Amino acid sequence: MTKQVQALGTVDATQPLKIMKITRRELQPDDVEMDILYCGICHSDLHQIKNDFGAAHFPMVPGHEIVGRVTAVGSNVTNFKVGDSAAVGCIVDSCGHCPACERDLQQFCEEGTTLSFNSPDKHLGGMTFGGFSKTYACKSDYMLHVPDSLDLAASAPLLCAGITVYSPLKHWQAGPGKVVGILGIGGLGHVAIKIAKAMGSKVVVFTTSQAKVEDAKRLGADDAVLSSDADQMAAYASKVDLIIDTVSAPHDINEYLRLLAIDGTVVLVGLPPKPLEIGAFNVVKGRRSFAGSNIGGIAETQEMLDFCAEHNITADIEMVNADQVNEAFERLEKGDVKYRFVVDMSTL
Ligand code: NAP
Ligand code: ZN
Repeated sequence: MTKQVQALGTVDATQPLKIMKITRRELQPDDVEMDILYCGICHSDLHQIKNDFGAAHFPMVPGHEIVGRVTAVGSNVTNFKVGDSAAVGCIVDSCGHCPACERDLQQFCEEGTTLSFNSPDKHLGGMTFGGFSKTYACKSDYMLHVPDSLDLAASAPLLCAGITVYSPLKHWQAGPGKVVGILGIGGLGHVAIKIAKAMGSKVVVFTTSQAKVEDAKRLGADDAVLSSDADQMAAYASKVDLIIDTVSAPHDINEYLRLLAIDGTVVLVGLPPKPLEIGAFNVVKGRRSFAGSNIGGIAETQEMLDFCAEHNITADIEMVNADQVNEAFERLEKGDVKYRFVVDMSTL
């Protein structure tokens, strides 16, 4: 039987979020169902509710950094039981047999990844509704285990922010002997500092904020650069092996390409809604690369959670109640968060 549950959603790009009822599917044999305890607020939620990418469907219930407690498991499920903690990130289904899925890269599924919200819903029709709600259900193969040692609320942001930076740090081989730059110290960036440091890299922060320059060492960075200071920027020219660019707004990528050492790479994970321009000489010189990366597959997301448990990494969060969610989105838009809002869903 489908059920109606309470959620926080919006009916168009100009409206604040408000309480609404949504339908959740009947438990399927492969499904795990959870009561949601906490859900992080990612800048992608903000892009989507504002329809920055022109791909929003309304009504929309955002939220894709979801942790909770299992309340029911389908008859085929062996990897979760009632009472376990569980988590859902961005991906809740994929075809399972295309070349991308065979490589555990479900985020690039050729038949279309089902995302946790604003994505065609194969069960109910319409679009999926996300984690700003009381419950979530999906196939057990797409649910993650949160290691016991991690605080549940502070782990929620790992489900998107964590995997989005872990995956490129690993793919481009951050580690001992490498200088890794983290550009933009928000939700993704502050977790990237911690993960890159735990991988053994030298970590340099590039930020527009003097306050974050001062906070960077506490977060684990070896050095921090105020990006508006030309002398501080020039000191890193041709010295950085890998830059993870998490900036959410249009910015001059050439300033960062020039910081790359020979064979260095800037990996864009931020999603500025307008195209970026690259000057030819900033890439031909030094055989530099400009690349991108999108979240990470399910197996890699579990690997990231286990890595974070091993290194005692969670997000620095500011917890808010359900009735503060619109204010939290306004503050996120202004860059006024250190460093991730998490909504306490028991207050919904
Ligand atoms: P966030 O918390 O808002 O952080 C973004 C940071 O970018 C800000 O803290 C700020 O850092 C910097 N920034 C913002 N506006 C800027 C501007 N005009 N010029 C220069 N720097 C600016 O956002 P988030 O949740 O970390 O997400 C970051 C981006 O990644 C968003 O676009 C989001 O949609 C995207 N994202 C992508 C993926 C993926 O799979 N590719 C996954 C999740 C999120 P400083 O204050 O340090 O300058
Ligand atoms: Zn996200």
